Amino acid sequence: MTSCRGCTSDRLLLFLPLGNHPLANGFLAEDQLDQPEPRFPLDAYVCLDCGLIQVADQVPPGYFRHYVYIPSTSAQMHAHFEALAQVATRQFLPSPDDLTIDIGCNDGLFLSFLGDSGRRTLGIDPATNIAELARARGVEVVNEYFTSELAESIRSEHGPAAVVVTTNTFHHIGTLDPFTDGVTKLLADDGVFIVEVPSASEIVELNQFDGIYHEHVSQLTVKSFVDHLGRFGLEVFDVEQLPVHGGSLRVFARRRGDGPTVSRRSQELIDVETRLGLFSAETYDAFRSRVERLREQLVELLAGLEQEGMTVAGYGASARGNTLLNYCGIGPETLDFVVDRNPLKHGLFTPGMHIPVVPVERLLETQPDYVLVIAWNFADEIIAQLDDYRVRGGRFILPIPEPRVVS
Ligand code: ZN
Repeated sequence: MTSCRGCTSDRLLLFLPLGNHPLANGFLAEDQLDQPEPRFPLDAYVCLDCGLIQVADQVPPGYFRHYVYIPSTSAQMHAHFEALAQVATRQFLPSPDDLTIDIGCNDGLFLSFLGDSGRRTLGIDPATNIAELARARGVEVVNEYFTSELAESIRSEHGPAAVVVTTNTFHHIGTLDPFTDGVTKLLADDGVFIVEVPSASEIVELNQFDGIYHEHVSQLTVKSFVDHLGRFGLEVFDVEQLPVHGGSLRVFARRRGDGPTVSRRSQELIDVETRLGLFSAETYDAFRSRVERLREQLVELLAGLEQEGMTVAGYGASARGNTLLNYCGIGPETLDFVVDRNPLKHGLFTPGMHIPVVPVERLLETQPDYVLVIAWNFADEIIAQLDDYRVRGGRFILPIPEPRVVS
């Protein structure tokens, strides 16, 4: 990589070479296990001007046409999107005719809350299988990749949008400029752009290296939003910090008026990022050392359990989990299986390490001694859900921010 995809600076630092990894959502069917599995270097860079953490875009074209992550399997995400719908309705959608467009609408969960209250909505998502799920909820979906040209045709057909939302999508975009250009074409003059993404500062502070994978080509700071959106005449006027996905940012932007280039709220948060060292190389050197230590500790802990004859299974066949498993080299000799609530993944094998993915019920049927909570970002929900397993003596291993056992 030679220049930052957000702000175009060339001050990029390669700080975390994670090795060669398969695509994190490239789950395999049994008959694919003996076929060659493409791997791509997972090298994390940071822009020392805006703090954008980035990996090269190596995801093949068409990859997001069939997708296996859906938020609806999590109760936490239901509550999250319901709350976002309330915020949008109260603050930015005074009339039922106001249009909300969700780019990367996934299975339509967010838009369904707006639709239920009589608001006009439109979803955009390239995944054919998932667009069908959204339509089943009654959400109108354009089943295409979002481009500047698509934005123009949507605007001429549906009119300008009062709100454009994109959750858990912006950091998947390899070339941000045409995407943001398209957003400006959709937005009404007084429209609001709301973006939610995992926060780069949480990743660095809390050792969340597993949030880095080929689909997550960018991890954003507030400064990177301000710099990038500013290049398209948009100003960030508010930012919230959210607990989902290990710590996320919800950014509110609108067309820049006559006020200052950087709003006061944005500047306060940029000052915090500066104090955290997100624009200095030493911070990332220290981060790499902590991640390497985490790997040693986790591998040692699991090897010790194996020597004691303990059985261990995993919870969460998540994309981020595959960075953790592949980087630490944790395979089926260590984890008998990985459970997941998403039925689209049952019967498949994790990319790279080839661990079978099975329904959650398997944990209660076989009662392994330990569960490695690979989806540690949902740990509270998972541990509460597995109360029967815990009461019978089952214990949990949380890998991040440092490996530890919870019983
Ligand atoms: Zn930058």
